[in-house]
Amino acid sequence: MLLIGSHVSFGKDQLKGCVEQSLSYGANTFMFYTGAPQNTIRSAVNTDINGEALKLMDGKISIENVVCHAPYIINLANNKDVSKYEFAIDFLKKEIKRCHELGVKRLVLHPGSSVGINIDDALKNITYALNIALEDDEDVIVALETMAGKGSEVGSNMQELKTIIDGVEKTELIGVCLDTCHLNDSGVDISRFDEYLDEFDRVIGIDKIQVVHINDSKNPIGSRKDRHELIGIGTIGFDNLIDVIYNERLEHVPKILETPYIGNSDDDKERIYPPYKFEIASIKAKKFDGNLRANIRDFYRQ
Ligand SMILES: [Zn+2]
Repeated sequence: MLLIGSHVSFGKDQLKGCVEQSLSYGANTFMFYTGAPQNTIRSAVNTDINGEALKLMDGKISIENVVCHAPYIINLANNKDVSKYEFAIDFLKKEIKRCHELGVKRLVLHPGSSVGINIDDALKNITYALNIALEDDEDVIVALETMAGKGSEVGSNMQELKTIIDGVEKTELIGVCLDTCHLNDSGVDISRFDEYLDEFDRVIGIDKIQVVHINDSKNPIGSRKDRHELIGIGTIGFDNLIDVIYNERLEHVPKILETPYIGNSDDDKERIYPPYKFEIASIKAKKFDGNLRANIRDFYRQ
């Protein structure tokens, strides 16, 4: 069965709001941040709302396939500022606990940025931090995301991810999140995705793949940029993304859209309309929507 969903927002209705948005998009899974992605202010899990969310999901979305994403300011790679590094570890520990309280089993994490230290030390810092963060964890798998290689980002090649994973003691609680835009921007040819999976299986093991982020890219292969584009409109293209989404070896893995909201016109800076309902429909039909932007605007303007 195809597992497809998108990034949704976790507001004051917490998981219940996420489920409502997802169902309105025709999704059967979703991904959320427990607060704003760019800060670490978080409120406690509301267990009443969570019960309602689980009821609403019944038969339509399995909590096993739901994904949480840690905020991207968490940087486990650099320990120059010890208090910042310790804060990041502690925050990750709390984020794992929140996932556990919500019943969510998959937590996506950006490995971090080395910013001025050498890559071997950066990799050691990440492994050390993960071993502490996973100490009390029993059932939340941390999935390290494949990065575009922008700036000093760690994790833009398989070998770096393998080094981190090899150093994690609780092997069963560490995994990987593939991101098609990041892979493209880091130099992977998505039109030869099966060859990438073969290599991934040799180096890391295909069973480690916990999530796939489905995004087109605004930039060519190897650009190391990380700018997501709507499905079929970017440099990867609709057919190549469909081949990733329907790859039999990843059938059981949730596919999550993180494509950008669009504005009232192409020049509009204010992005207000989510594309997911329309992208999910075209993915299910395996048919590219040539009027994607216009159709989204027509629908939400009413
Ligand atoms: Zn991410």
